[in-house]
Amino acid sequence: MIVMKFGGTSVGNAQAIAHVADVVQASRARTPIVVVSAIAKMTDALIRLAHESVEGKEGDMLNLIRSVHHQTIEDLGLSQNICAQELAELERLAGESRGKPLDVKQLDLFQSFGERMSARIVAAQLSKNGIASRAFDAWDIGMITDDHFGDAEPLPTSYAHMREAIAKIDEVPVITGFIGKTEAGAVTTLGRGGTDYTAAIIGAAVGAEVIQIWKEVDGIMTTDPRIVPEARVVPELAFEEACELAYFGAKVLHPKTIMPAMKAHIPVEVRNTFKPDLPGTTIVSAFAERKGKSATVEALTIKRNVTMLHIYSPEFFDGSGLMARIFSVLEAHRISVDVIATSVASVSLTIDHNDELETIAKELADTGEITIETGKAIVCAVGGSVNAAGVAGQMFGFLGSAGINISVEMISQAAGGVSITFVVEEKDAEQAVKVLHKEYIERAKR
Ligand code: ASP
Ligand code: MG
Repeated sequence: MIVMKFGGTSVGNAQAIAHVADVVQASRARTPIVVVSAIAKMTDALIRLAHESVEGKEGDMLNLIRSVHHQTIEDLGLSQNICAQELAELERLAGESRGKPLDVKQLDLFQSFGERMSARIVAAQLSKNGIASRAFDAWDIGMITDDHFGDAEPLPTSYAHMREAIAKIDEVPVITGFIGKTEAGAVTTLGRGGTDYTAAIIGAAVGAEVIQIWKEVDGIMTTDPRIVPEARVVPELAFEEACELAYFGAKVLHPKTIMPAMKAHIPVEVRNTFKPDLPGTTIVSAFAERKGKSATVEALTIKRNVTMLHIYSPEFFDGSGLMARIFSVLEAHRISVDVIATSVASVSLTIDHNDELETIAKELADTGEITIETGKAIVCAVGGSVNAAGVAGQMFGFLGSAGINISVEMISQAAGGVSITFVVEEKDAEQAVKVLHKEYIERAKR
């Protein structure tokens, strides 16, 4: 069995959905389970509809949502009946919402219609192409969640229920991503972009061979191609590497969404719906297993708008809980620290730039002498031997030759050796990435 998840752009119009059907057809022998997002932009439209319904101004948004679905169905040559029930239900919901308070629960109910309709359209298109197929609302196959509306979590028992339910389905199931129901029967969502999460949960539930995330990009790139035109797709990454890249600013899969797959040791592929012959990127669960075959540096990313805080204090000598005091100030402002370095008499750390710096500096004043440096960026490199002996020195040699200064005290290596991060002036960050991309990726030294 394989799970094939198609995002909003992949089901964005009739032409895209026709591609989806071809892609599923080509994998038919692998027993696909299809999971879909709403048609592109429809979730935003449904949220807006929810707000406008409260004021009794739902007409325009209802028309838009209706016409996008009607048009798609018509262009595919399918029957308009496919979504008639959902559209009627949505219209009734909008009408009944006038003057009522709009809470997260109600918002989830509105949003659920996007996936409910796209699943029906995709299933109908597959059937039309001769692939016996059926649409399922996720709750009908056991996706039962807690009641954290807007950010719900499936109950642990959902996994076994979904495994049983899916085993009984003869057709190719097309399942709604993003949504579920509480035990009491209220509709929930798993958070924006939640269809990836649904796919990973279902993959883990059935013990899929692979989970494929079909998008409109070729895969995860070695770096942002707007910075380095030579950037190319990374064939394979470990979960830990993908996490580091996501954390330090790359637009890769949200690590949380593929956790269930990683825990079950199921590889996740990122593929292009519109170029299905490309292999894409495969994310595997364990860096340790990948390390040997990986390049020194596989990918590079930049986190911009970083501020460095330095705190000098003689108190560090006797370790009198000063660190805890510093962190409690930062925590009170809900600030997280990315890189931290300590010496006998000082601590330096990086935080996202924010408007409360002055206040924070004042609150920290009794821990020591504070200096603040803004306009910094963090560069992060991941790869199989970024932390091998001599690599850091060599990297900084390359950067030095290019005239780029790095803050030597702010170099950090992730536990397990998966990444190296360092701080530069923001104006130098792109150049740093260009230099390292050229040396380690374009020259493909191994
Ligand atoms: N349709 C939902 C959203 O736009 C879920 C998803 O696309 O993954 O956030
Ligand atoms: Mg979407």
